[in-house]
Order: sequence, then structure tokens, then C-alpha cells
Amino acid sequence: MKLLEERILREGKVGANGVLKVDGFLNHQLDVALLRELGQEFARLFRDCGVTKILTVEASGIAVACLTAEQMGVNVVFAKKSRSRNLTGEVLTAPVESFTRGGTYDVMVSREFLKQEDRVLLIDDFLASGSALEGLLSLTEQAGCSVAGAGVCVEKAFQKGGARLRSRGLRVEALARIESMDAAGGIVFCRETD
Ligand code: 5GP
Repeated sequence: MKLLEERILREGKVGANGVLKVDGFLNHQLDVALLRELGQEFARLFRDCGVTKILTVEASGIAVACLTAEQMGVNVVFAKKSRSRNLTGEVLTAPVESFTRGGTYDVMVSREFLKQEDRVLLIDDFLASGSALEGLLSLTEQAGCSVAGAGVCVEKAFQKGGARLRSRGLRVEALARIESMDAAGGIVFCRETD
């Protein structure tokens, strides 16, 4: 998506640790008008898929998930990363390896918000090694619901997550796919020929 690629080129900062910082519009300050456009695009891509619910993970996935959900007329469930007192009843849990912070954490949702009859669209800001989406997939498997696919704003295609998830049969749509990036500032996007 040209709009997102241009914004990344203009404002994205590549860290030496392989992390792309986009704090000015996606990860800290939120450019709601831009996120609405991203939400519209996800809604268009998945419009005929019978989606009944969007599942994301706190915190950075929530905003774009909400703007997608608004377009699709469905609710958002966000998986929590820490066990709070208001997470009651039966709780589904899956481990995730954190790419940005290192270490492992659990993602958790109340079973009451993922029903067997739900058809779920997974949404997240970034796809890198794929662990976050795999954690969300595991939650849907435990809940027994079906998955329409996953929408991510940015896929770092030079990491293995996207290929692994697609080889599992998951439909993964990325609005910007980065082929390579380096700390000197060079960011190259994938150009699909098909
Ligand atoms: P994965 O689980 O696919 O390795 O990483 C996805 C998660 O890590 C996303 O939810 C995102 O928050 C974070 N992440 C991974 N790579 C990046 C990156 O380059 N920049 C930012 N801002 N977040 C990232």
C-alpha cells in the first residue's frame, strides 16, 4: 500500500537491533486518519470471508484492529499480556517469544469472547518471526473457532514468520512488505510480480 510505504520511508527509523521504529504514526503517536485507511484496506481484502470477530494483541495492534472492525461491523478482542484481576472465568493462554523485548510472555483471552462459531480475522502491526500471530492462532484453535486470515500493517519479509504461517495454509495479507532494511536508512519493499 503506497500510502503506508511512503510514510515508512519518510519517518521510519531502522535500529541496529533489526527493529523498525514507526513511533510517529503506529507505535506511540497514532495517526488515526492513516490507520483508518489501513483499516479500510483490511476490510476490503477480507470483506467476503464471513469475519465475525477481530483478534489482536495489546498494545500496538489495538488501534488498527478497531479501525478495521469499525469498517467490518464486528467487535475486537485483544489478547492480554499480563493477568489482571478482571480476566476471570476460563482463560485461554499461549506463549509468545517477544521479538522487540526478548524473552517469552503469555497471551491470554477469556474463552467467553471467542466462541466456537466465530470466524476470526487476526490483526497486528508487525510480522517478524511470526510468534505473535502463532500465539493468536493457538488461542483460536483452543477456542475451536475458524480463522479467515491475518492482516498485518508491516511484514519484514526477510524474517521467516510470513513464509512459515503461509506454509501452514494461513492467508496473510501485509500492507507493506519489507524486503531489506539497514541502519544506514535504506528500506527496500518487496515488489510482487503477480
Ligand atoms: P513476531 O512475533 O512476528 O516476531 O513479532 C511481531 C510483534 O513484535 C509485533 O506485535 C510487534 O509489536 C513487534 N515487532 C516485531 N518487529 C518489529 C519491528 O521491526 N518494529 C516494531 N515497531 N515492532 C516490531
